[in-house]
Amino acid sequence: MSKHFTLGGRFSPGGPQVLRAVDGVSLAVARGETLGLVGESGCGKSTLGRCLVRLYDVSGGAVRFEGRDITHLGEGALRPLRPRLQMVFQDPSSSLNPRRRVADLITEPLRVHPGPGGRARGRGEIRDRLHDLMDLVGLAREHLDRYPHEFSGGQRQRIGIARALALEPSLIVADESVSALDVSVQAQIINLFMDLQDRLGITYLFIAHDLSVVRQISTRTAVMYLGSVVETGDTETLFHRPAHPYTEALLSAVPVAHAGEARRRRIVLKGDVPSPLNPPPGCRFHTRCPKAQERCRIEPPALRDVGDGRMAACHFPNE
Ligand code: SF4
Ligand code: MG
Repeated sequence: MSKHFTLGGRFSPGGPQVLRAVDGVSLAVARGETLGLVGESGCGKSTLGRCLVRLYDVSGGAVRFEGRDITHLGEGALRPLRPRLQMVFQDPSSSLNPRRRVADLITEPLRVHPGPGGRARGRGEIRDRLHDLMDLVGLAREHLDRYPHEFSGGQRQRIGIARALALEPSLIVADESVSALDVSVQAQIINLFMDLQDRLGITYLFIAHDLSVVRQISTRTAVMYLGSVVETGDTETLFHRPAHPYTEALLSAVPVAHAGEARRRRIVLKGDVPSPLNPPPGCRFHTRCPKAQERCRIEPPALRDVGDGRMAACHFPNE
């Protein structure tokens, strides 16, 4: 799947440029699992997440949801699917209307989307559902008439999650959903996400630049670099034995999470991430890779099985 943006018009110097935000990514998220998606900012994680829930049209390839090709569905055909595909964003304050009370914010999706069979929901039904949702996300009912600014960051994220849950989604794309929170609050919200998955069977694509967050929540992890997925694997395998030099470098910057775990030698990557307007030929990582060889400058490596359930896009992966 690819998502390219055309920047500038025919009047811009040099004509329009194509930004390859997501370039030929193939990923599957199994029902009920959490796939963590990591990578530095600007690598295309958020774009990929938005394509998955069809907030963006894709430029090439396909998006399938529960066995159905939803790549080219128009807004009308997508509408009945929208409730099932939800996003939770980083900063709940920007997605919550400050002039509306919590009760209205959480129930808005219920009033916008009709219930099963296309019928409008009654007031009693909406109130019962509101109470269920507040209980699910751990918000006390006495808060119902308050406004978003009266809550802490963690509580606001609970409101955002309740809104996303209102229509019983089967997939939630969580895009940096805990990044703005203090570490202790992060842990509470991560626990909430996991608890909701146990109870409701929700599938997550959990996007984060913070690897320790992804490690806490994900069963599998995918690593992106410059619009491509460079490695996927079971989270613990990937954290213990990264196959791709980029994953290895990312992990070397993370403090040791568990007692007894060997400290990694810090790998400092040279240079900056190249522009997605003009990605390097061959392996996109070759300009910064400590293991790069001549072949890497010419031949793009395909994502392939490198053992232990890991897939890596590298000519010389770690065994
Ligand atoms: Fe590094 Fe070459 Fe592997 Fe790319 S293909 S990650 S440049 S060793
Ligand atoms: Mg992002």
